Amino acid sequence: MAATFDVFDPASGALLDKVPDGSVQDALHAVDAAYTAFPSWAAMASRARAEILRRCYDLMLRDAAKLTRLIVAENGKSFADARSEVLYAAEFFRWFSEEAVRADGAYGDAPTGGAKTLVTKAPVGVAALITPWNFPAAMATRKIAPALAAGCTVVLKPAEETPLTALALADLLTEAGVPAGVVNVVPTTNAPEVVAAWLADDRVRKLSFTGSTQVGRILLAQAANRVVNCSMELGGNAPFVVSADADIDEAVKGAMIAKYRGGGQACTAANRFYVHQDVLDSFTQKLCAAVSALKVGPSCDQTNEIGPVINAKARDRIARLVDGAVAEGARIAAQCKIPNDGWFYPPTVLSGVADDAQILNEEIFGPVAPIVGWSDEEAMIAAANNTEFGLAAYVYSGRMQDALRIAEKIEAGMVGINRGIVSDPAAPFGGVKQSGIGREGANEGIREFQETRMFSVDWK
Ligand code: ADP
Repeated sequence: MAATFDVFDPASGALLDKVPDGSVQDALHAVDAAYTAFPSWAAMASRARAEILRRCYDLMLRDAAKLTRLIVAENGKSFADARSEVLYAAEFFRWFSEEAVRADGAYGDAPTGGAKTLVTKAPVGVAALITPWNFPAAMATRKIAPALAAGCTVVLKPAEETPLTALALADLLTEAGVPAGVVNVVPTTNAPEVVAAWLADDRVRKLSFTGSTQVGRILLAQAANRVVNCSMELGGNAPFVVSADADIDEAVKGAMIAKYRGGGQACTAANRFYVHQDVLDSFTQKLCAAVSALKVGPSCDQTNEIGPVINAKARDRIARLVDGAVAEGARIAAQCKIPNDGWFYPPTVLSGVADDAQILNEEIFGPVAPIVGWSDEEAMIAAANNTEFGLAAYVYSGRMQDALRIAEKIEAGMVGINRGIVSDPAAPFGGVKQSGIGREGANEGIREFQETRMFSVDWK
């Protein structure tokens, strides 16, 4: 019998399911299928591809309840967060069904005369997609939808912790009319060898990766051997800035979304709160009140607002960061109660965090909000930029000019202004510095899966 691996429920540690454990050979068979399917998928009229993508959207909505349950089961996020993820994930199919038909190109005279220039876009080829566990549906559809819209075929390796949602999506795509071989999902416990084999295979022309900066660097180095086209969505360390004249109730509402959605396990999650001294006490008190009121528990109970973190290792890492901050002088200003079973870490607010505390330098990836006071804008911006990351940031201010001035100075690919959420399939998602290369969503998302081609035509 073929090897399998276990998938666990993070809320209880119980076994959920067994999944075939893809070998390097299985991974290369997936490339065979994707490579064989590529010419006819790429040649299909873009309208026909768009209509299949639109059906994927419709079927995701039809199966929203089932997909929500799967995400809750294998990822552990709250029922409401899982439900929003399904809708967000489905939206990539609707958005890219609309983008698929927007052929982009140019036709013009060469300035010297005697020639015409034609510019078109062509699908890059077979794409390897590598996704993390924190958004089991959305990270997959954010890559699959633009790849298919562009005319690429794909091999997808979901995170080992959350393969069930990706497998369910693959069935749904088949039902929507995606031809055999266009999307090939390969769950595996052997990510390093499987992905290395893909990157070494001449038929694989594209890598789209979402995950840690650490793994991203390894994959960029491997991709360099064959100069593979790469889109990388890597780690973040988002600052959340509150100015003296901000609406504090709104800032707390935004903070609850930016920090505690999905238990803080998002690369866009607010990681450091820089709050002006004039409003530090009131912001901290109101945030503590909101956090203390959170209902924490297994997400099969739909009234719970925060579920477990993904596994014991993640929980222990968060605990180490919080213990370190406390040892360096931070105070636990609020902390929720958690169930005894499962991999829970209590939603926590830390006040009086030292400027150089490790928790401000590392992506926490958990429900912990460290708060630092500020009074000098330039010094606060320098602190906010004192990180290798540059994915998301949030700014709350009473005056749009002030918010934009601060936002423009913060080195981040995306800034939420008086909003605790930046993700939108119709807007370009991505980071600067070591948070990544390229953008997903928007019109740019499809461009990542296309090559520009030029034809110079004699015109005498
Ligand atoms: P996270 O911290 O979110 O788990 P990772 O970067 O470890 O982020 O994982 C993101 C994805 O990268 C997952 O699908 C994981 O299996 C895969 N992955 C992890 N290590 C490697 C590696 N050395 N080579 C290729 N893929 C990897």
